Amino acid sequence: MTPHDRLFIPGPVEVSAKTLAAFAQPMMGHRGPDFKELYARIQPRLQELFGTRQPVFLSTSSAWGVMEAALRNLVRRRVLCCMCGAFSDKWLDVARRCGKEAEALQVEWGNPIEAAALEARLAGGDFDAVTLIHNETSTGVMNPLAEICEVARKFPEVALIVDSVSSFSAMPIPMDSLGIDLLLTGSQKALALPPGFSLFSVSEKAFARAEQVADRGFYFDFLEFRKNAEGDMTPTTPSIGHIHALESQLDNFFAEGLANRYARHVRTNALVHEWVRTRGFDFFAPEGYRSVTLTCVKNNREIDVAGLMKNLCEKHHLVIDGGYGKIKGKTFRLSNMGDETEETVGHLLRCLDDCL
Ligand SMILES: *Cc1c(COP(=O)(O)O)cnc(C)c1O
Repeated sequence: MTPHDRLFIPGPVEVSAKTLAAFAQPMMGHRGPDFKELYARIQPRLQELFGTRQPVFLSTSSAWGVMEAALRNLVRRRVLCCMCGAFSDKWLDVARRCGKEAEALQVEWGNPIEAAALEARLAGGDFDAVTLIHNETSTGVMNPLAEICEVARKFPEVALIVDSVSSFSAMPIPMDSLGIDLLLTGSQKALALPPGFSLFSVSEKAFARAEQVADRGFYFDFLEFRKNAEGDMTPTTPSIGHIHALESQLDNFFAEGLANRYARHVRTNALVHEWVRTRGFDFFAPEGYRSVTLTCVKNNREIDVAGLMKNLCEKHHLVIDGGYGKIKGKTFRLSNMGDETEETVGHLLRCLDDCL
């Protein structure tokens, strides 16, 4: 492959030559036997990754498509949005644009959502659903998923919607045992696939809810996905290249072993953390709530982040992120998700030293 700028931003991330080659295979008809075999072949491994016995659906959309779908399928009237950063904050706006009554459980950027606060809010209002981002990519905060799920399970009438876009496949997220009603992820983060595709799975409770909700539309109707999945198909013509690429990545994940894959993310993340500490930087997220897939570095040294990014790219063909939205320049983000190894992350850190 010709030299290119390698992405260490928290999505899209670097896609390997092997994955790109799988993506570029010849087309097949999406109602024919070859497609159905491909679809059926990847299901068991997807179910293992999701920790579910439910079918795993393939959506030709970026993650926001499924996030909007979650609201349209699962919210009759009222939703509570857990908000702790750019992606989770946006969910409130999207819910209102979908015509739903939406309320905020807001914490300051950099802080996690606390299970006790969620419990108090759920006890006080009749919500149809709650939205949660597991790993808030803008702030590098990983919310305490197990504790939050434990609280949510006390409210059986509330559907728990979890976005694991930037954590999925980098750590175990057992959907069924946690009691998650909708778990979704996008292709371009830890799965290290090209952008424009998402995966999600829906609990029986969520299907039952969707049956009661009008105006689900067509493209993202969960019941359409379920009906088509029974025949190993998607409701509409999918991005077939993504599904080939996904199969290729699943081959890699299971050859490496999921436990090894999770451990690799912990190790590469620890390398970044060590760099942050020894170079005199701070973390934007508090101890105990830091993402394992990306690090949001607080710019307490007040370096010229834009200048650093420019040098890193011009000199080393490496791309990092200069901070999201209102914390641009006050933070910068380094991703270790996807196919990255100690070698590639080590190289990034040496190049950062060179440019600082
Ligand atoms: C990247 C990201 C999204 C948005 O994904 P799109 O592919 O742009 O739709 C949503 N949630 C989280 C947590 C993300 O990191």
